[in-house]
Amino acid sequence: MSTQTTPKLLVLDHFIDGKYVASIDGKTFSNINPATGETFAQVAHGGSKEIDMAAQAAQKAYEYGPWAKMSLRERATVVRRIGDIILARKDELAKAETLDTGKPLRETLEGDIPRAALNFHFFADFASSTNDEYYVASENERHLSVREPVGVIGLITPWNLPLYLATWKIAPCLMMGNSCILKPAEWTPYTASLLGEIVNEAGLPPGVLNVVQGFGADGAGEALTRHPFVSRISFTGETSTGKAIMKAASESLKKCSFELGGKGANIIFADADLEEAIPTAVRAAFRNQGQICLAGSRLFVQEKIFDQVVDAMVARTSKIRVGDPLSLDTDMGALISQEHMAKVQSYIELGKAEGKLLTGGQRLTELGNGNFLSPAIFTGLAYNSRFCQEEIFGPALPVIPFKTAEDAIAMTNSTAYGLSASVWSKDVDVCHSVSSKLKTGLVWVNTWFARDLRTPFGGQKASGIGREGGKYSLDFFCEQKTISYKYKG
Ligand code: NAD
Repeated sequence: MSTQTTPKLLVLDHFIDGKYVASIDGKTFSNINPATGETFAQVAHGGSKEIDMAAQAAQKAYEYGPWAKMSLRERATVVRRIGDIILARKDELAKAETLDTGKPLRETLEGDIPRAALNFHFFADFASSTNDEYYVASENERHLSVREPVGVIGLITPWNLPLYLATWKIAPCLMMGNSCILKPAEWTPYTASLLGEIVNEAGLPPGVLNVVQGFGADGAGEALTRHPFVSRISFTGETSTGKAIMKAASESLKKCSFELGGKGANIIFADADLEEAIPTAVRAAFRNQGQICLAGSRLFVQEKIFDQVVDAMVARTSKIRVGDPLSLDTDMGALISQEHMAKVQSYIELGKAEGKLLTGGQRLTELGNGNFLSPAIFTGLAYNSRFCQEEIFGPALPVIPFKTAEDAIAMTNSTAYGLSASVWSKDVDVCHSVSSKLKTGLVWVNTWFARDLRTPFGGQKASGIGREGGKYSLDFFCEQKTISYKYKG
C-alpha cells in the first residue's frame, strides 16, 4: 500500500495579470494523484473567456508595460531571480510535481525542478550574451540584424515533464521581451500554478506571464490557438495534437513550433561496452515510467550478443522498485492516469499476443488504487509491428535482433517518428556512419539523454517542426529584422 497521505483539498486557480482568479462561471475539475487515485485539488476550468482575459492582460503588458522595453540585462535580472526562487522552493515544487505526475520524488528533486531553475538561469545568461549580426558590405553600406519582441505568445505543454518543459519555453520567451499565456496539461496543473507566486516575487510585471488551466480540444488549449492577439504557438505534446493545433492556428497564420512524439531506438553492437549500455538501456526505457519522448522505447541488439543482453536486461528490469513515488527508495512510480494506463495495458496485451513477454506487464494492485504497472520486456515482435511502430509512452520495451548496421539503420528509420536514437559501439567509424544515416533530430553515441542547452533540440518527420535550445529558441520567440544603412561620403 502507498504510505503517502494526501494533503487537504487544494484550489488551483488561473494566474492572470499578476493575480490568481477563478473561472468566470466558477467551474472546476478534479486533480487526481496518480499514485493513490485520490482527488487532491480542484482546478479552475478555463475556456475561451479565461483565454480572452489572459490575452487582454498579455497584450496590455506588452504594449504599455515595461517588459518589452527593458534591456536584456534588466530582463535577465528578473529571469535569473525566477530560477533562484525555484531552487529555494525546490522541495515544495518537487513534492507538488510528484503528487501531480506520480513520478518518483527522487527524480523531481534531482531532475525536473533543478532543470526548471536551470532553464531560467541558462536563458538569462545565454540571451544576454548572444550577439546580433552585423555585416559590413562596403565602406558605405552596413547591415544590422536585430531581434525584437513578437508580442503575445501561446505556450501549450504536456504532463510528462510539467515544470521542466513549461519553463523551457517560458524562459526564452520572456528573455525576448514577449508576454505569454501558458496552458499546462490538464493532468498536471500544480507547479504551473505555483509559478505565478514565483514570478510575482521575482518582480515580473503583471500580465507578462499568465497561466490558464483547462483542457485542450474544445477548451482553453484550442481557444489559445485561435485567439487573434496570440501570434505564435509553441507546443509540446502528441503528434496528433500538433496536427489539430496547426489546423486551428492556420486560420490566423500563427507561426508554430512543435515538439511532438517519438519512438526512440537504442542500437547495441556486439563490441559495445555492455557495462554501460545495459543499465543505460534500462533507464532509457523505464525512466519516468517510460513516459519520455526521448525514451529508448525500442532496443535493437546485434545477433551475436542478443541472448546475453536480453538476459541482463530482464535481470535488471525485474529489480526495479515500483511503488510510492514519495518514498526516496522508489525507482518507478505511477502512470499519469487510468486512461493512459489502460492504453499501455492494451499494448501489453498486443505484445503478448504477437510476441513473448519476458518480465513485468502486470498491474500492481497490491500497491492500492494507483496506476502502477511493472516494467515489461518483450521479444519476438517484428520491427514493423504496431507495438514497435506506435508510441506507447509507457513501460513496455521490445528487444529486436539485427545482423548488420544497415539492418539496424533501416529498422530505426522505419517509424513515422524521428526524434532520438542511441548507438553503442567501441568502433568510432561504425558510430559515425550509423549516426549520420539515422533520420532523427538527436543521436547519442555511447550515452543517452546527454544535453547541452545551446544545441538544437527537436525531431525530424512526425516528431516536430522547428528546434528549441540556445539561439533556436531565441529565434522562434523574436521577430528578426534587418536594418540596412547607406552612408554618404
Ligand atoms: P497531448 O498532445 O495530449 O497534450 C499536450 C497539451 O496539449 C496539453 O496541455 C493539452 O491540454 C493540449 N491540447 C490537447 N489538444 C489540444 C488542442 N486541440 N488544441 C490545443 N491544445 C490541445 O500530449 P500529452 O499526452 O500531454 O503528452 C505526451 C506526448 O507529448 C507524447 O506524445 C510525447 O512524446 C510528447 N512529448 C514530446 C516532447 C518533445 O520534446 N518532442 C517532450 C515531451 C512530451
